[in-house]
Amino acid sequence: MNFLQTFNHFYDTAIKDLSIPKGLSDQIKSCDSVYHLRFPITLDNGEIKVIDAWHGEHSHHMSPLKGGIRFSSVVNEDEVRALASLMTFKCALVNVPFGGGKGGIKIDSKDYSITELERITRRYTFELYSRNSLGPNTYVPATDYGTTSREMSWIYSTYKTLSNSNIDSAASVTSKNIAQGGVSGRKEATGRGVFIGLRELLEDKEEMAKINLKTGIKDKKVIIQGFGNVGFHAAYFLEAAGAKIIGICEYNGSIYNSDGLSPDSVKSWLKNGKNLSEYENCKFYDDPYHVFYEECDILVPAALEEVINESNMYKIKAKIIAEGANGPITYEADKYLAKNNTIILPDLYLNSGGVIVSYFEWLKNLNHVRWGRIENQGKNTVKEVDLINNALNETMCQAFEEIRTKRRDLKNKITYREAAYKIGIEKIAHTYTEMGIFP
Ligand code: NAD
Repeated sequence: MNFLQTFNHFYDTAIKDLSIPKGLSDQIKSCDSVYHLRFPITLDNGEIKVIDAWHGEHSHHMSPLKGGIRFSSVVNEDEVRALASLMTFKCALVNVPFGGGKGGIKIDSKDYSITELERITRRYTFELYSRNSLGPNTYVPATDYGTTSREMSWIYSTYKTLSNSNIDSAASVTSKNIAQGGVSGRKEATGRGVFIGLRELLEDKEEMAKINLKTGIKDKKVIIQGFGNVGFHAAYFLEAAGAKIIGICEYNGSIYNSDGLSPDSVKSWLKNGKNLSEYENCKFYDDPYHVFYEECDILVPAALEEVINESNMYKIKAKIIAEGANGPITYEADKYLAKNNTIILPDLYLNSGGVIVSYFEWLKNLNHVRWGRIENQGKNTVKEVDLINNALNETMCQAFEEIRTKRRDLKNKITYREAAYKIGIEKIAHTYTEMGIFP
């Protein structure tokens, strides 16, 4: 079962007892359109290379569409459909007024120079622009696996040039550098959101009693898979609140220390070009999955999809799985783990911090003013980053409360994932019912 089939199963399970007509449900579930793009770029050595890429538009019930662009050597059409679909329900759940979209370029960034990556990004931007599939009111991308604010700034610069410096062009893409109109706190937002969601769960006495854990973050043993944007920031905020990061898994190995690793120190180590295998005061394993299966309280998959599946679900010892990544657990594994009393905080909710703060960035760009500047008559007493972080916290807490209430209404017989899907589906159905179908 691939990622898209897993998504379809989650959707079908969630819709079962909702009173939504079949035709409307089909519309809510299906992906409106996907482009398979193929375009040439010139490599640094003068050769021409054809690049495969996709652009998915899941739902136009709200505009614009929102969803990251990933660079990955394994991305494919079904994956883009699944990711665009998840975005629709994620936005609905956290009351961000966007439809779901997604972009994928089939490359491994490590195989290309910076100038080649720039040409790939700018050409992809042109391909979207020429199909009217990019812009402040159509599709607004952001970072995802393999991309950073650098690529988003290239997208902005290309869009701005093509659109004759449209006054709103900064709102055509989010997760930009601050100097390009980005917003403080966006880089950390997804990882911070993972932290907030976990904090809310860990405060729930009843839920913790069910899995034999004390409440609170302090001293919880955490293992992180994928030490990129989401994984690092989740680890950083969890450790700052008293958790112990006992393991980190990367694509080329994993490290373990039962006394805890410092996320900052590991990050600086890697930034200085050193290998995980040489990091001091820990055990290193060549196998990226060795540490993944260690005993821990919380496992945070924050790399790619389907990493917990039928072949390895029996080996997972974590009591809580916090889905930083999109789609890290297959449908079968999800069922198995839920039966075994593992609490799973789903991607749909847990990694929504990124899109929440991207929404704030989009609003800031349309307003053409930094948050707090006008309200404080230039006195600069309220920092943008504080406003953003408070709003992110409030949005994540409110969504957690909605999920908790939905589960309680159904006597806690459904999982967090099922509750999150149900809430998202109901909100989208409500929009369609009020808006009607054109023509
Ligand atoms: P990233 O590229 O910054 O980091 C991914 C990390 O995973 C990299 O360090 C990579 O080396 C590592 N990795 C790759 N294969 C691995 C393997 N087999 N085992 C262990 N590590 C491996 O990407 P990111 O932005 O942190 O995204 C990670 C996940 O989070 C993706 O599923 C993405 O869709 C999801 N997500 C990201 C955001 C965001 O704001 N960036 C928002 C929501 C969801």
